[in-house]
Amino acid sequence: MARLYPTIGLEIHAELLTKSKVFCTCSAEFGGDPNSRCCPVCSGLPGTLPILNHTAVEYIVKAGYTMNCEISRFTKWDRKNYFYPDLPKAYQISQMPRPVCLNGHVDIKTSEGDKRIRINRIHLEEDAGKLVHDDYSKATLADYNRCGIPLIEIVTEPDFHSAEEVMAFIEKIRLLLKYAEVCDCKMEQGSLRCDVNISLAEKDAEKLGTRAEIKNLNSVKAVGRAIEYEIYRQTEILEAGGEVVQETRRFSDSTGETSTLRSKEDAHDYRYFPDPDIPPIIFTEEELEAIRESLPEMAEDRKNRYMNDYGFKEIDADTLIADKDICDFFENALKVYNNPKTVLNFMLGEFMRRINLGEMSMDNLEVTPEQVANLVKYGDTDKINKNNYKNIFKEMLETGKTPEAICDENDYWVKEDNDLLEKVIGEIIANNPGPVEQYRAGEQKVFGFFMGQANKALKGQATPNAIREMLEKKLKG
Ligand code: ZN
Ligand code: MN
Repeated sequence: MARLYPTIGLEIHAELLTKSKVFCTCSAEFGGDPNSRCCPVCSGLPGTLPILNHTAVEYIVKAGYTMNCEISRFTKWDRKNYFYPDLPKAYQISQMPRPVCLNGHVDIKTSEGDKRIRINRIHLEEDAGKLVHDDYSKATLADYNRCGIPLIEIVTEPDFHSAEEVMAFIEKIRLLLKYAEVCDCKMEQGSLRCDVNISLAEKDAEKLGTRAEIKNLNSVKAVGRAIEYEIYRQTEILEAGGEVVQETRRFSDSTGETSTLRSKEDAHDYRYFPDPDIPPIIFTEEELEAIRESLPEMAEDRKNRYMNDYGFKEIDADTLIADKDICDFFENALKVYNNPKTVLNFMLGEFMRRINLGEMSMDNLEVTPEQVANLVKYGDTDKINKNNYKNIFKEMLETGKTPEAICDENDYWVKEDNDLLEKVIGEIIANNPGPVEQYRAGEQKVFGFFMGQANKALKGQATPNAIREMLEKKLKG
C-alpha cells in the first residue's frame, strides 16, 4: 500500500476586539461575573431587535484585506438554526451565501519552503454563551456573557498536508489579526479557536478520503498534537482495511488522543434563511478604501523597515515582531531614546529573558517603555555600567521604581573618580601576586580574571573602558 497522505482544512473562529457586542450595546470584554453582561437582545428574549455594530463590520473588512480577500460589495445576514443550551435564541445570526470576504490567500514559511494557503471565505457571526460543567454539584451552568460577541469565521481550502503547515498558518493568522488590531488572539481565553478537518488518501488519488473533524482546539500545540494523533489513528484503520467514519471528534490535552463527539447521523440541518431583522450592507468603493487605509502597519512591514532602516538582522527582526506587545513596547521606547540597536539588544536580552523566565508578562507590566529607554541611555552614555542592567532591571520589576531612583539608592552611578579606581585596582593587584606574575609572563587570558575582580569590587561605579585602561597601566608595573 502506498503511503497515505493527509489533507487538512481549517475553520478558525476569532472574536473581534469591539467594545460592545455585535447586535446590542453590552460590553464585549472577556470575563465579568456570570450573566452580568447581558440584555434582552443577547440573551434571546422574544420581540427584541438586534442592531448591527458597524465597528465589527469594519474589523472583518480589515481582517479580509490582511488575508488578500475580495470584499463583497453586497453582504447580508442569515439565521443558522439549532438548539443548544449556550444559544438562548435557538439560532445564530451568521452569513451563508453572501459572506463579507471571499477568495483570499495567506503565505506561510515551512521547512520545505514558502507555501500559499487559499482562504475560501470569512464571515461575521455572533458568539454563543459558555456552559460550565460543575462536577461537584453534578450540574451544568450557563453563562451568557459571551453571547453576541462578534466573531469572524475564517474557512480555508484543504491546502494543508502536515501539522507543521497548520501550526505555521495559525501563527501567521495570529500576527495578521493582532497587528490589524481586530482580535487579541488569546487562544487560552478562547478569543481564537480552531476546528480541523482531516482525511487520508493515497497521494494524487482522485478522491479525498473520508474526513473527521476535530472541534475547539485552543492552543497551537493542541492543534499540532491532535493532527498527529488523527494521522496515526486513520492510518491504522485504513491499513487494516477498515473505513474512517465521518464524524466530529474532540481532543483531550491530557491523553493526547481524539474521541467521538457526534457522528454524521446526528449532523444538524441548520435550515439557513435570511435574517429579516438586519438589513444587508452595500459598500461603496470609498468606504472600503477608507477602511483599507486605516489599517495599521503590519508585522511584515515593520520587519522590513527594521531591516532596511535600522540594519537589524532578519532573525532579530523576526523575534521582535513575533509578539506585537513587545514590538509596540520597543517602538514606544524608541520615541524616548532613539537608538534602535542598543534598545533592541536590551529587548532581546534582559527583557525577553525575564519574560521567558516567567518573571514578567506583557499583560501586567511593572515597567514603562520610558524607563527602559532611560536605562539603556544611561548605559550607552557611560552614566552606568552595562553590567548593572541586570540588577537594576530586576529591581525595576520588583519594586516599580524608576532606574534613577534605583541607581541613587544603590550608588550605581559611574564615578569619574580616578583615585578610587587607582586605589581599588592597586589593592586587587597587591592581593593577587600569582595571577600578576602569570600575566607578566605573557598569559593574556588572566586579564579576564582581573576585569572580573575589578567589576565586582567597583560595583559598576566605573566603566569597563576606564577599568581596562587602569588595569593595563597597573599590570605593566
Ligand atoms: Zn446584550
Ligand atoms: Mn461559526
